[in-house]
Amino acid sequence: MNWAALQDRPGFPKTEPFPIKSLYVHIPFCAGRCSYCDFFSISAQDRPQFFSSEHELAYVEAVLEQARLWTEALKAGPFATIYIGGGTPSVLRERVLERLVKGLEPYATNGCEWTIEANPESVDRRLLDVLSESKVTRISLGVQTLSHEVWSVLRRVGSVEDSKRAIELVREYPFELSADLLLGIPLPQGRAETVEDILLESLAYLAERMPHISLYDLTLEEGTALQRQVACGALIIPSADEMAEARGAANALLAEHGFRRYEVSNYARPGHECRHNEAYWNMEPYLGLGSGAVSTIQYPDTDRPSLLGAMIRITGEKDIEQYVAAPAELPTPVEYIDRKTGLFEFLMMGFRTARGVDTRRIASLFGIDVAQVIPNSLARWSQEIIRSEHSIALRPRSFDILNRFLVECLEELD
Ligand code: SF4
Repeated sequence: MNWAALQDRPGFPKTEPFPIKSLYVHIPFCAGRCSYCDFFSISAQDRPQFFSSEHELAYVEAVLEQARLWTEALKAGPFATIYIGGGTPSVLRERVLERLVKGLEPYATNGCEWTIEANPESVDRRLLDVLSESKVTRISLGVQTLSHEVWSVLRRVGSVEDSKRAIELVREYPFELSADLLLGIPLPQGRAETVEDILLESLAYLAERMPHISLYDLTLEEGTALQRQVACGALIIPSADEMAEARGAANALLAEHGFRRYEVSNYARPGHECRHNEAYWNMEPYLGLGSGAVSTIQYPDTDRPSLLGAMIRITGEKDIEQYVAAPAELPTPVEYIDRKTGLFEFLMMGFRTARGVDTRRIASLFGIDVAQVIPNSLARWSQEIIRSEHSIALRPRSFDILNRFLVECLEELD
């Protein structure tokens, strides 16, 4: 890796980056390929050669090598939040996962919030024992649905029973817990259950057992098996009204159970919010390790006002063999996020949260007052907006207008 060469590129800041306090590690392996998924991962069914213990270990050693060299080069860490995601980190053999978490421990602060994603079918006592002997503090379970009706639509490995068993088992350990659920799974023609029924069946079970739930709208990605089934009419995607009704019912059920919607798709009981994701929505810089992982680096640049707020985004090498052979290599192209794009990203992420856009942070990074760059959008939607001394936020009840509001903000920035 040659950071000096990077800094020599025209337009790149020459100053030291802002401290990086959050780490993401990507494990691009999955047991199978879910019908809706277009994430960067490979499955054991398609490419079994990557799932030997030697390959898993070689991948983890590459991540640790990259950690050593990139944290040094960027003066990144120690990290207040670490997130191991995928793919499915829990498909790694226990001893390989143990090597990974132990190898990363020196980079964690005391009190680090350390999340690992796990799929229910790969959760067992051996895995949980290894994690409970480490600094991992939080487990995010990819549940997605607990409805027998739609389980086969998603083509996930495991079963509804496996998921319930994993949820009960993980609750015996002292981890912070979260579960991911999908809203808007397409249904076969003529099904009696509504989108809302299917969602609430899963949600009611989880709301009693988890302090944090992420409820994502399923998006139909081009080229996925699910998209093909919808295209040929075998499955029907829910209408906008059905989605809105189901989201409204979910909001009401979660509110009854003491959850607060603190981001468009995320709900937590007080004190159980995910700090790593909060840093991400607040556009704090973070380091991404592993094949396909993204890093965002921010620089103060006091000499050239045109660079204030500019960022650099690096996407890790996606060829896993190439990554393992040279994990610390700086991949190309490196994306340069200009000031205007960077500012829009700040608005887009900030308005997703109940906390809103941090106006003080934007003022210090970009040298601007948010209220003066999008005055018309703020005025037009004033009923939906809460302003306080250092933030501007959409009311959580108004998250539904987020996209329209952001389009107007973008037009105003132009
Ligand atoms: S487990 Fe997650 S990353 Fe893996 S195929 Fe399914 S949705 Fe994609």
